Amino acid sequence: MHEVGIAQAALDQALEQAQRAGAVRIHRIVLRVGTLSGVEPTALEFAMQTLLPGSIADGAGLEIEPVPALARCRSCSHEYSPSDGLLFECPHCGALASTVLRGRELELARLEIS
Ligand SMILES: [Zn+2]
Repeated sequence: MHEVGIAQAALDQALEQAQRAGAVRIHRIVLRVGTLSGVEPTALEFAMQTLLPGSIADGAGLEIEPVPALARCRSCSHEYSPSDGLLFECPHCGALASTVLRGRELELARLEIS
Protein backbone atom coordinates (compact mmCIF):
# COMPACT_ATOMS: atom_id res chain seq x y z
CA MET A 1 0.00 0.00 0.00
CA HIS A 2 1.92 3.03 -1.23
CA GLU A 3 -0.52 5.40 0.48
CA VAL A 4 1.51 4.98 3.69
CA GLY A 5 4.60 6.51 2.10
CA ILE A 6 2.53 9.32 0.64
CA ALA A 7 0.80 9.93 3.96
CA GLN A 8 4.17 10.09 5.70
CA ALA A 9 5.47 12.60 3.17
CA ALA A 10 2.33 14.73 3.47
CA LEU A 11 2.52 14.67 7.26
CA ASP A 12 6.23 15.56 7.23
CA GLN A 13 5.42 18.50 5.02
CA ALA A 14 2.58 19.60 7.32
CA LEU A 15 4.78 19.31 10.42
CA GLU A 16 7.55 21.26 8.75
CA GLN A 17 5.20 24.07 7.73
CA ALA A 18 3.64 24.18 11.19
CA GLN A 19 7.07 24.30 12.79
CA ARG A 20 8.19 27.09 10.51
CA ALA A 21 5.06 29.04 11.50
CA GLY A 22 5.87 28.46 15.17
CA ALA A 23 2.75 26.39 15.75
CA VAL A 24 2.40 24.01 18.66
CA ARG A 25 -0.66 22.26 17.40
CA ILE A 26 -2.13 21.23 14.05
CA HIS A 27 -5.93 21.20 14.10
CA ARG A 28 -6.73 20.38 10.54
CA ILE A 29 -4.90 19.07 7.52
CA VAL A 30 -6.45 19.47 4.10
CA LEU A 31 -4.95 17.56 1.20
CA ARG A 32 -5.73 17.98 -2.46
CA VAL A 33 -5.79 14.73 -4.35
CA GLY A 34 -6.35 14.51 -8.09
CA THR A 35 -8.50 11.71 -9.41
CA LEU A 36 -5.61 10.70 -11.70
CA SER A 37 -2.98 10.70 -8.96
CA GLY A 38 -3.43 6.98 -8.42
CA VAL A 39 -4.08 7.55 -4.73
CA GLU A 40 -7.13 6.11 -3.05
CA PRO A 41 -8.45 8.93 -0.78
CA THR A 42 -9.89 6.56 1.83
CA ALA A 43 -6.64 4.62 2.06
CA LEU A 44 -4.67 7.85 2.31
CA GLU A 45 -6.92 9.17 5.06
CA PHE A 46 -6.61 5.92 6.96
CA ALA A 47 -2.82 5.92 6.60
CA MET A 48 -2.66 9.53 7.84
CA GLN A 49 -4.80 8.71 10.88
CA THR A 50 -2.37 6.02 11.96
CA LEU A 51 0.59 8.43 11.73
CA LEU A 52 -0.84 11.37 13.69
CA PRO A 53 -0.59 10.10 17.29
CA GLY A 54 2.61 11.24 18.96
CA SER A 55 2.99 14.29 16.72
CA ILE A 56 1.63 17.81 17.19
CA ALA A 57 -1.05 16.80 14.70
CA ASP A 58 -2.46 14.19 17.06
CA GLY A 59 -6.25 14.41 16.87
CA ALA A 60 -6.20 16.74 13.89
CA GLY A 61 -9.09 16.67 11.46
CA LEU A 62 -8.28 15.35 8.03
CA GLU A 63 -9.92 16.46 4.87
CA ILE A 64 -9.27 15.32 1.36
CA GLU A 65 -10.34 17.53 -1.50
CA PRO A 66 -10.68 15.55 -4.68
CA VAL A 67 -9.57 17.34 -7.84
CA PRO A 68 -11.52 16.24 -10.90
CA ALA A 69 -9.45 15.44 -13.96
CA LEU A 70 -9.35 17.81 -16.89
CA ALA A 71 -7.54 17.28 -20.17
CA ARG A 72 -7.09 19.32 -23.33
CA CYS A 73 -6.84 17.73 -26.73
CA ARG A 74 -3.64 18.65 -28.58
CA SER A 75 -5.33 18.48 -31.97
CA CYS A 76 -8.55 20.40 -31.49
CA SER A 77 -8.02 22.04 -28.06
CA HIS A 78 -11.27 20.58 -26.79
CA GLU A 79 -11.29 20.34 -22.98
CA TYR A 80 -12.88 17.31 -21.37
CA SER A 81 -12.87 15.14 -18.27
CA PRO A 82 -10.88 12.02 -18.99
CA SER A 83 -11.75 8.80 -17.27
CA ASP A 84 -9.09 6.67 -15.61
CA GLY A 85 -6.46 5.17 -17.85
CA LEU A 86 -3.20 6.03 -19.50
CA LEU A 87 -4.55 7.02 -22.88
CA PHE A 88 -7.23 9.63 -23.14
CA GLU A 89 -9.26 9.77 -26.27
CA CYS A 90 -10.66 13.15 -27.19
CA PRO A 91 -14.45 12.83 -27.29
CA HIS A 92 -14.56 15.57 -29.90
CA CYS A 93 -12.10 14.43 -32.57
CA GLY A 94 -10.88 11.07 -31.29
CA ALA A 95 -7.22 12.07 -31.05
CA LEU A 96 -5.17 10.21 -28.45
CA ALA A 97 -2.79 13.05 -27.65
CA SER A 98 -4.02 15.18 -24.79
CA THR A 99 -2.43 17.27 -22.12
CA VAL A 100 -3.60 16.67 -18.57
CA LEU A 101 -4.43 20.06 -17.09
CA ARG A 102 -5.69 18.84 -13.75
CA GLY A 103 -6.12 15.65 -11.80
CA ARG A 104 -2.57 14.61 -10.90
CA GLU A 105 -2.35 16.83 -7.82
CA LEU A 106 -1.17 15.39 -4.59
CA GLU A 107 -0.43 18.21 -2.25
CA LEU A 108 -1.02 19.92 1.01
CA ALA A 109 -3.84 22.38 0.44
CA ARG A 110 -4.33 23.95 3.86
CA LEU A 111 -3.33 23.69 7.47
CA GLU A 112 -5.10 24.95 10.55
CA ILE A 113 -2.59 25.56 13.30
CA SER A 114 -2.21 27.37 16.56
ZN1 LIG B 1 -9.77 16.63 -30.09
